[in-house]
Amino acid sequence: MWIKPSALLGAVASMLLLAACSGDDGSGDRPRVIASFYPFAFVAEQVGGDHVDVDNLTPPGAEPHDLELTPQQVADLTEASLVIYESGFQPAVDDGVEQAGLSGDAILDVTEVVTLAPATESADDESSDVDPHVWLDPTLMQQIATATADRLIEIDPSHRTAYERDRDQLVEQLEQLDTAYEQGLADCERRTIVTSHDAFGYLARRYDLEQIPIAGIDPHAEPAPSDQAQIADLVREDGITTVFTETLVSDDVAQSIADETGVTVATLDPIEGLDDATSDETYLDLMRDNLEVLREANGCT
Ligand SMILES: [Zn+2]
Repeated sequence: MWIKPSALLGAVASMLLLAACSGDDGSGDRPRVIASFYPFAFVAEQVGGDHVDVDNLTPPGAEPHDLELTPQQVADLTEASLVIYESGFQPAVDDGVEQAGLSGDAILDVTEVVTLAPATESADDESSDVDPHVWLDPTLMQQIATATADRLIEIDPSHRTAYERDRDQLVEQLEQLDTAYEQGLADCERRTIVTSHDAFGYLARRYDLEQIPIAGIDPHAEPAPSDQAQIADLVREDGITTVFTETLVSDDVAQSIADETGVTVATLDPIEGLDDATSDETYLDLMRDNLEVLREANGCT
């Protein structure tokens, strides 16, 4: 049983809450879901609705690849009803799940739901030969939504109907998003996108774009000057109009390539986390913003 600290307003309140928890339908008994970073927290919130409490291990404004966990977060993992994460993406979370001794129904490892593809450029970052950025393909997000609902139903079968309804609603929204991308990117002058790190491989494959990442899978891996020069040449040759940067990491290299080639810089969000500027937008909003900048950059009609 886990109780929100904010609910403990006083001795009387806590006694009442404890009494409620011992009943059949106490709201303090809600499953606690811990997601390792924003896209999975979004899915858990959408599918779980009011019947679950969702925490995100990656704080707003933080970049999830190199997340470190606090001792409190590691302790929280042992209390979770369900931890949603992607093994191999955030080593600190892998360690935390292991330390907490979590297994079986208590974990949902997204790599067991979605088949990971190879990285576009594994030479830049030898530690990652698979691409973790599955959430940028809306059809893969549908699979994650379905798996999350299945797990919530196992943990909390009394709310099966609500989980199924909310899952269906999210899957439908993701289908509409997929259709918007297919139609929006069907007829474009260019199909090459220069991105700040190798985050858009799944999106590019799904919608027939070619991604040229400036950094590797890890956004902090800076390219060699010779690679930078090669990307600048390609921008000129292909008539590329835009070099994409992102919100949570430095855009120095992208900016210097744009300056050198005289093209525009625009934000293409890998949606690894929310920052202050986008905190009132959801995954679905940010994906639609991304579609608009892609359409503009690539001259899509
Ligand atoms: Zn990334």
